[in-house]
This record gives sequence, C-alpha cells and structure tokens, in this order.
Amino acid sequence: MIVNMAEGASEQEIEHVIDRIREAGFQPHATRGTTRTIVAAVGSGRRHELEALRAAAGVEDVVAIAQPFKLVSRQVKPHRTVVDVGGVAIGGETVIVIAGPCSVESREQLISTAEAVKNAGASLLRGGAYKPRTSPYDFQGLGIEALRILREAREKTGLPVVTEVMATEDVDMICEYADMLQVGARNMQNFALLRRLATVEKPVLLKRGPSATVKEWLLAAEYLLAGGNPQVVLCERGIKTFETETRNTMDLAAVALARELSHLPVIADPSHGTGKQSLIGAMSRAAIAAGADGLIIEVHPCPERALSDGPQSLDFTGFQKVMQAMSTPLRGVAGRKEAYA
Ligand code: PEP
Ligand code: MN
Repeated sequence: MIVNMAEGASEQEIEHVIDRIREAGFQPHATRGTTRTIVAAVGSGRRHELEALRAAAGVEDVVAIAQPFKLVSRQVKPHRTVVDVGGVAIGGETVIVIAGPCSVESREQLISTAEAVKNAGASLLRGGAYKPRTSPYDFQGLGIEALRILREAREKTGLPVVTEVMATEDVDMICEYADMLQVGARNMQNFALLRRLATVEKPVLLKRGPSATVKEWLLAAEYLLAGGNPQVVLCERGIKTFETETRNTMDLAAVALARELSHLPVIADPSHGTGKQSLIGAMSRAAIAAGADGLIIEVHPCPERALSDGPQSLDFTGFQKVMQAMSTPLRGVAGRKEAYA
C-alpha cells in the first residue's frame, strides 16, 4: 500500500504515518519529493490499519500498489533514480557507455583496452574476473589477479570499474576493488546473492536472466531495494527465443517497459544481446532511441584471440566507430543531451 501525503504535510505528520505503518506490521519507505511525500508500506501486515490512515492528518489518500514489485515501482517513486558509480551518474540526462573486455586476460590487454575505450568516450570500464561459463572446461577468469589489474586500470585512466560477482563469499573482496558489482544473467534469481548484495554500499548492475520475464527481473531488483540497497541499474542483455542467427534476442521493448514500470535506470548490452560484432552499432543506436540510460559493450585489442566472447567483441577501431555513430543524430531522437559522456 502507498500513503500519499498531502502537499505541504508537516514532518510531524509524515513521522506519525511512518510510526503507524510500523505498528501495523509493515516496513515504511518514505520518498520525499519536492512538493509531496509518498510513504510505501511493504511486507505483510494488517491492511485495515493502513486503510484507516485515510483519516490521519496530512494524508491525502491510501492506495494499493498495483504491481508485485513495490519499491522498484514508479508508483512508489515517480521520479527517476540516478545511480552514482564512482562519480559517474547513470540515469541522468547523459547516456553513458561501459566498455571493456568480456574477461580480464592480462595486464597489457586490460590497460590498453581501458585507455582505448576512455579515448573513444566510454565513462566506465568493464572486465570479468570471475566468469560464468557454460562449460567447466572454458576459461574461468583470473580471479583476484584480475581484480588487481582492474584496480590498476582505474588508477591509470580514472574510469570506475564494473565486474561480476558470482558467489556470496566473494562479495566483500570484490567490493574492495570494484565500483559497481554485476549480477550476471545466470544469477539473476540467485536469491542468496541478491540478499547479500542488498547489504553492501556499492551499486549493483542487475542483468536480466536469459529466460526471465520483465516482472521476474523487476522482482529480483526488489530483493536489492527491500534489503536496503537502492543503487540498482537494470541491464537488458537478450533473451532466449527460437531465433538461432543471433546469440540471444535483444528485447528492446523490455528496455522501454522497464523504464515505464520502474524508476531505476536501464541500460542495454548489445554484445550479449546479439553475439555479433556487426550488429553492435545498430543495436546501440536502437537502444538509445528506445530510452536506454546507457550501454555496456565488449571491446578487446584482438577479438580473434579473446579467451571469451571474441565474436561479439569490437576491436578499438570498431568501438570508436560505434561511439561516433551514436553521438550527433541521436541527441534529438532520444531527447538526451549527448549520446555519451
Ligand atoms: C558478461 O557480461 O560477460 C556476461 C557473462 O554477461 P551475461 O551474464 O549477460 O551473460
Ligand atoms: Mn561476455
């Protein structure tokens, strides 16, 4: 349920409502806007006690939250959330680009890529240290060594770092090295991991599961917000369909829908979304036109030698071209200031 406070409700009236929500057995979450405050009551308590709050001073209305995800819903927070990742705003007026290799393979590979993507206009660096590979015989990532290299790349270029966390026991260590923790598509419904990440003070990049509905994806985000971490960015990375020409089917309607249903920023991953270098440019532009707040793109110094995801990785020149094609014509289409920072 949501308690909509009247315009100009006093702090005392808001606090009273918060206390009553707690007494009724719910958790209160207040969103203070410039003119009015909304207090969401989540959990399972005594509804009739909330409904009775219609009669409390400073209360305009008490309404049900229509969707199963509550704190993630735009009904609870009508204004868009901006997530700060090491000084870079995701979800603001500027479309941001996260770029880097699928996996960190060596110091030279990562540092040269970080410098190249920075020069081309990327504002965050990606690189996998712990890799979720379909086969146990494939390259699994360099682990802690990769984290150290990522830290060095950040020191050299100033780009904040995004890397995937697969296991709850790695969370504390990865927090020491990364500016943002990625939950991979395969772990979107790893509820133990989500609960653990809800307690950290780092932003989370939550990828959509390959077979997850938009509702399931937003409910996964709800675990993070309900557990106390409001810094969540959603990422559409393609879903499984009958199509085999592309690695996944990049669902751009889901980008627009997630932004309609939720206040959280939404970015798109054309690399995993298509699996094909040649489609990254077109799908990047399409994602921005659909309203994406940013993109995550795989870049490798020599894609044919990549230890993971070479066929969908751009080389430095390819990335530069994609970035250039994203800028000018798209500003008007997307109503954004710049296509990238
Ligand atoms: C990745 O970002 O390299 C990755 C494994 O992504 P996903 O979880 O979307 O497959
Ligand atoms: Mn990858």
